[in-house]
Amino acid sequence: MIRSFKVKLHPTEAQKILMFKSFGTARWSYNWALNRQIENYKAGGKFINAIELKKEMTKLKKLEEFKWLSEVSAKIPAQAIIDLCEAYKKFFKKKSDFPKFKSKRRNKDSFFQREDEFRIKGKKVLLERIGYVSMAENIIPVGEGIKYYNPRIKYDGINIWITVGAEVSENQTDKEKTEPIGIDLGIKSLVVCSNGYKVKRPSIKKYLKRLKRFQRRASRIYINMEKNNVSFKEKSKRLIKLEKQILKTHQKITNILNDNIHKTTAKLVRLNPSVIVIEDLNVKGMFKNKHLSETLKYSKLGEVIRQLKYKCDWNGIKLITADRWYPSSKMCSSCGEKKEKLSLSERVFVCDKCGLHIDRDFNAALNLKNLAM
Ligand SMILES: [Zn+2]
Repeated sequence: MIRSFKVKLHPTEAQKILMFKSFGTARWSYNWALNRQIENYKAGGKFINAIELKKEMTKLKKLEEFKWLSEVSAKIPAQAIIDLCEAYKKFFKKKSDFPKFKSKRRNKDSFFQREDEFRIKGKKVLLERIGYVSMAENIIPVGEGIKYYNPRIKYDGINIWITVGAEVSENQTDKEKTEPIGIDLGIKSLVVCSNGYKVKRPSIKKYLKRLKRFQRRASRIYINMEKNNVSFKEKSKRLIKLEKQILKTHQKITNILNDNIHKTTAKLVRLNPSVIVIEDLNVKGMFKNKHLSETLKYSKLGEVIRQLKYKCDWNGIKLITADRWYPSSKMCSSCGEKKEKLSLSERVFVCDKCGLHIDRDFNAALNLKNLAM
């Protein structure tokens, strides 16, 4: 199923200039192509196809006065020509009105991006020749196997937007739902589910080690710079390289973690349960615990919840968040007896009343599931 997404962009001033250049080039190319078709038609010629027009455009670009057409991605005028030819054909098939010249005043500017070069990193999207542009929210799905369609940058006269189609896992709204699933979002495992499904967190040890090494080296340089009163504007080549390496390692870690989360949430949603129950993690509060904070940072529980939310929404699955005070860990999933205390190191839940002996996280998952029943 392809879903379309529209997200507001927050370009820098420099990016804005490049974007408006792109809008202008797209508009000019569209109008030029329309004009070519009209002239040609009046002269008794038939429809000029997009390939021919693109060839003409290539010649045009070589002329001194049209050099500016090459200042933006070549795909932008090319796509504008294709768009016009499509609109022109539609008119002759009596499917739409005759195409109109685009005017700056109508505020309907847009330009195209290549699907195969479309990249999203966190809250930024990579645009050809413009660079990474900030997005207002990250709702566009990312991950292995997601295909993008027809990315366009649009200007409505006030804001600049990106619209894109993304192929997401098939919609299961109409299929019969299965039993509810309780999910314990863990520190040791990413998820432990009431149906027995369990996902380990991927190993990022190697990259964390690498990251620490780079960070240590960089911090030594920072300290020296400060000692010797060197301005941070005068970074050495070595420091610049180190900073890049730190950034790259961070990105590598994020990619590994997000990939794992995407696969896991996709698998859960594919089971098509009527309800998914998760805990209210109050993640921010947990971050105050120094021992947990580093592990938690890399377990990306917030990301798991974010993905579950939108994927459940697409598939008609009800997502319930248990009350923060619901004793999912301290309660026996068999008889309901509550424990006064349960330390984090106790990995096995042993019930004093009924004698149940069960994995701590699995017990919690069962309690969450029971909440839905
Ligand atoms: Zn019990």
